[in-house]
Amino acid sequence: MARIVAVTGTGTGVGKSVLTASLCAALRGRGMDCRALKPLETGVRPGEPGEDAALLGAASGPGWTAGIETLELPRSPLAAARAEDRELDLGALEAAIAGAARRCALLLVEGVGGLLVPITAGSTVRDLLRRLDAEVLVAATAGLGTISHTALTVEAARSAGLRLLGVVLIDVDGGTDPGFAAENATQIAAQCGVPVLGILPHVGDARDADALAAAAAGLDVSSLLLPRPDPTGEVVAADRRHVWHPFTQTGEWRDETPLVVRSGQGCWLVDWSGRRHLDGISSLWCTVHGHAHPSLDAALREQLGRIAHSTFLGQTHAPGALLAEELVGVAPAGLTRVFFSEAGAAAVEAALRIALLAQRHAGHPERTAFVALGEAYHGDTAGAVSVGRSEPFHTGLDPILFPAVRVPSPHGNEAGSLRALGELLAREGDRVAALIVEPRVQAAAGMLTHSDRWLRDAAELAHRHGALVIADEVATGFGRTGDLFASGGAGIAPDILCVGKGLTGGYLPLSATLATEAIFDLFTGPYAAHRTLYYGHTYTANPLACAVARASLRLFDEEDTLASARRLAATLERLTSERVSGLPGVFDVRRRGVMTGIELRDGDTPFEPARRVGRAVTLAARRRGVVIRPLGDVVVLNPPLVMSDAEADLLVGAVAGAIEEALPG
Ligand SMILES: *Cc1c(COP(=O)(O)O)cnc(C)c1O
Repeated sequence: MARIVAVTGTGTGVGKSVLTASLCAALRGRGMDCRALKPLETGVRPGEPGEDAALLGAASGPGWTAGIETLELPRSPLAAARAEDRELDLGALEAAIAGAARRCALLLVEGVGGLLVPITAGSTVRDLLRRLDAEVLVAATAGLGTISHTALTVEAARSAGLRLLGVVLIDVDGGTDPGFAAENATQIAAQCGVPVLGILPHVGDARDADALAAAAAGLDVSSLLLPRPDPTGEVVAADRRHVWHPFTQTGEWRDETPLVVRSGQGCWLVDWSGRRHLDGISSLWCTVHGHAHPSLDAALREQLGRIAHSTFLGQTHAPGALLAEELVGVAPAGLTRVFFSEAGAAAVEAALRIALLAQRHAGHPERTAFVALGEAYHGDTAGAVSVGRSEPFHTGLDPILFPAVRVPSPHGNEAGSLRALGELLAREGDRVAALIVEPRVQAAAGMLTHSDRWLRDAAELAHRHGALVIADEVATGFGRTGDLFASGGAGIAPDILCVGKGLTGGYLPLSATLATEAIFDLFTGPYAAHRTLYYGHTYTANPLACAVARASLRLFDEEDTLASARRLAATLERLTSERVSGLPGVFDVRRRGVMTGIELRDGDTPFEPARRVGRAVTLAARRRGVVIRPLGDVVVLNPPLVMSDAEADLLVGAVAGAIEEALPG
């Protein structure tokens, strides 16, 4: 596809069309296959071609149609479309522009007015350009008032991550003092940190192709002639030289071609070549509302304008305090106190410490044991690994771990697991501090599911024996299982709840440990009693992260994200049973909400781990434009909750194809 460069104005009437036409004519004159497009033109009588489109069409040479949509009223596209009782289709516009870009080497797209002009009720010109992955050239008048207007446009482009090629000042009516225009150019370049490509003189007759091309002669168009920068090679080289990736086999990493992500949009990741990849795992189970959601971006920017970090040790701030209140409002009943950390593992560490000390402060210093499930995963710090130990990953770590008591995972044998828990608690329940569980889905173990019934029975047993219940919802929280929290949905009342991954909608590292008021009260006493919770991380309750988390919680209401999650769960159920379940090598498809695990086996026996079957499927899916990451030989799908049916279809289709490729017959 061609490179797309959008010419956007600081307002209307700044001479965008003339600039676009003259650039197009000049670049064509230098032998470049450049064409220009005016995708939306307002103030055009039905059945007639738009004036701007005609101008751009002439500059683009023969065999080219420069217009797509016209609207009659000279208003914003949104208002003009409403007057005609219709709504513009952003996706269709995007597709039409992308189609035009496939027919040339450089496509100049003239915007409508400025970047924030509305096209539909929920989208602006800027959104369209972002979807098109366009670069931006700003057209501004050369005269009075241009510095502020230009700076605002540059800011709007930057804050959406659009690449700025520069600014062109235009002497619209031929009346601007050249000295004044040059002064403006210098100031804009200094203030905005963008190159000013030059000053376009007044063009007497815009229909004269030679005059148009000549007008652009004074502009520095070198950035349009050079290819768009692509740092992929440099990034990969630096990465191979210096980066140590988590949970990544270093030898395999050296040999594969990594995906270098440049940007994201909705459920898609975009690499530096502009190729789009469907994010089937929510960037490791974090992204909730999609990448680059305007509301989350805006919440982050707004907070960034105030302060990025201010300590929570002995001080407070609005994003942290208000988020705590809002979390308590949606958490399972009884959880009233929020302790912030950054990683899920840190939230679990805090939970373990709180449980141990709460028992001690309540007069039970003998309650020091933690009961954990077989196949549990609670994060990678020492305490979290102690309750989530699994071979062979944690071989050799014992000197820094504490011994936890295990009961078998309920997956596959709920009665047996419950019996073992009952027997254990009957035997030594009076020395147990807490039971820690991942409610509904033991995710990292390979999406091992269990029933709500088992969960209720297990929690009830623990409580009956004086143990606290810790629900680790780092993976299952925020809609993944179809309820905002799995424990609430299942009807259990944990004493301590850990959340992480999706808390900020997948934007920033933030986690939290929620506790009951009864537990919190145990930590209140005279200073000398040392009941203070001596625990915390430097960046606890980072205001940027908290601000985004608040916006993410609001989106659950405003966009009814849980309804989307349930719809997506049903779609995944249908698609996986139609297209995956019967494939050779597919042993089991497990799902709760959108959390899906496809277990691959050789008949009834697991594949030889060295065959790396899960990885082979992942790489085959990558070639089909889909990003997934397996857990051993369990292929995991855990998409953003807002994934559309069409995207889910693509995802499951690609995964089915990848399984067939990796395991033929
Ligand atoms: C991912 C996960 C963690 C660890 O979270 P990090 O942010 O990676 O430290 C803890 N518990 C569960 C259930 C998880 O899935």
